Amino acid sequence: MSHRVVVIGGGFGGVNAVQHLRGAPVEITLIDRRNFHLFQPLTYQVATGALSPGEVAYPLRAIFKNADNVRVLLAEVTGVDLESRRVMLADVPGMEAVAPAEVGYDTLIVGAGSSYSYFGHEDWRQYAAEVKTLESAIGVRSRILRAFEAAEMQTDPDARAAEMTFVVVGAGPTGVEMSGQIAELARDTLHGDFRAVDSRNARVILVDALDRVLNDFPASLSRKAARSLEGLGVTIMVNRTVVDVDGESVTLSHADGSTERIPARTVVWAAGVTASSLSGHLAELSGAEVDRAGRITVEPDLSLPGHPEVIALGDMIRVRGSDGEIVTYPGVAPVAIQQGRYAAKAVARRLEGRTPAPFHYVDKGNIATIGRARAVAQIKFLKLSGFPAWLVWLLVHLFYLIGFQNRVLVLIKWSVSFFTHGRSARIISNAPGGDPPAGGHIAEPAVRGASDADAR
Ligand SMILES: Cc1cc2nc3c(=O)[nH]c(=O)nc-3n(C[C@H](O)[C@H](O)[C@H](O)COP(=O)(O)OP(=O)(O)OC[C@H]3O[C@@H](n4cnc5c(N)ncnc54)[C@H](O)[C@@H]3O)c2cc1C
Repeated sequence: MSHRVVVIGGGFGGVNAVQHLRGAPVEITLIDRRNFHLFQPLTYQVATGALSPGEVAYPLRAIFKNADNVRVLLAEVTGVDLESRRVMLADVPGMEAVAPAEVGYDTLIVGAGSSYSYFGHEDWRQYAAEVKTLESAIGVRSRILRAFEAAEMQTDPDARAAEMTFVVVGAGPTGVEMSGQIAELARDTLHGDFRAVDSRNARVILVDALDRVLNDFPASLSRKAARSLEGLGVTIMVNRTVVDVDGESVTLSHADGSTERIPARTVVWAAGVTASSLSGHLAELSGAEVDRAGRITVEPDLSLPGHPEVIALGDMIRVRGSDGEIVTYPGVAPVAIQQGRYAAKAVARRLEGRTPAPFHYVDKGNIATIGRARAVAQIKFLKLSGFPAWLVWLLVHLFYLIGFQNRVLVLIKWSVSFFTHGRSARIISNAPGGDPPAGGHIAEPAVRGASDADAR
């Protein structure tokens, strides 16, 4: 029997590991709870009607259609038995009694990613919409569009103002992108669509507990991003901590202890993240450490302490360097991609009886887009802003997007909307996450130091 490699997670890390193992003398089983690879860097464009869901997701089966040594299983991984080398599975919702109870492995690669955390305020989640999954992005889109529809019919001026107020929590790249896109939607795309309200009067507020937007970028680019956002009409509120979200409003606390309540029905969450629960599970089984964000600490070759046959990667890990220092890489796609490729090489090396060299991350830079022809980028020592940065952002995203058809479709959509300001995917659907809880519409809390900087 050939060597069995099980890969958990068809995200950036898992897909790249499988892609680079497809020619190796191994049998690969890729398990994901979704049947598609999601290009998370563009889900916020689904949330603002710029792209359709199918343009940022690609079926895993299609990616590996021609790889005879790869089989894909649509199932939820519920646990791992490190001793007997088995992965336990459960059915995903809507499928019953079909997933095998377990799958055995000789090598296990785990890239289960992360999710947004609400900093101990789980009750905020019901009001707080985030854009990490495709379902939640579709839900956010419905909530934003419904807010304008409600404002059109609302006769009470205060209630109308609350409908037209959008609060984005966390001024990292996702928060900056979301607030810029909502502002462009209100200012350009929806302008003229309504009769009772002027969409340009919408208030978009970007909140963070730190003292500037894009805290991980150099201060000069951070200032340029802030100016660019303000040019779009976004109100930036830094040095504010979200202390409450109740579906009708967001309450912020200032450094001097005073508080401010902002009536707002729609709140988008783009703050901190927490690692997949599989990270804690593996840590418990192996005795590895986890940090406050739930990331498991792996060895320099990304293996689990005491288990060279188990590799973990991407958003769910931090890495012990050869010198013993623990490195937390940014939660961005290039880290997961490079670790996926590395994992494939490490498996191949071990099969040849050789020891893999430690993982080394090559940092190619940081980009955040703000809106149409507005972005900031740091590539090594080069700092770009405005149109040149936006062009780099566009090319990089098209390059990494999986699927030729998706690349062409996205390029066409972006080109059309560049000239027309249009957004064709302005659909209100009843997808999960799109319906606000009873008594509330859409709201999200802002959190201490709220920023997704550590997520990207
Ligand atoms: C809104 C947003 C915008 C972003 N923008 C950027 C950006 O512009 N640039 C950038 O570089 N990075 C960006 N990132 C970060 C980037 O997307 C992540 O760093 C990257 O996806 C991490 O890859 P991963 O393989 O670790 O996990 P993921 O890509 O999250 O993949 C994890 C996979 O595991 C599956 N899975 C998890 N648990 C289970 C289970 N128990 N059973 C079965 N399957 C499971 C999930 O379904 C998923 O497919 C963004 C993230 C978000 C949320």
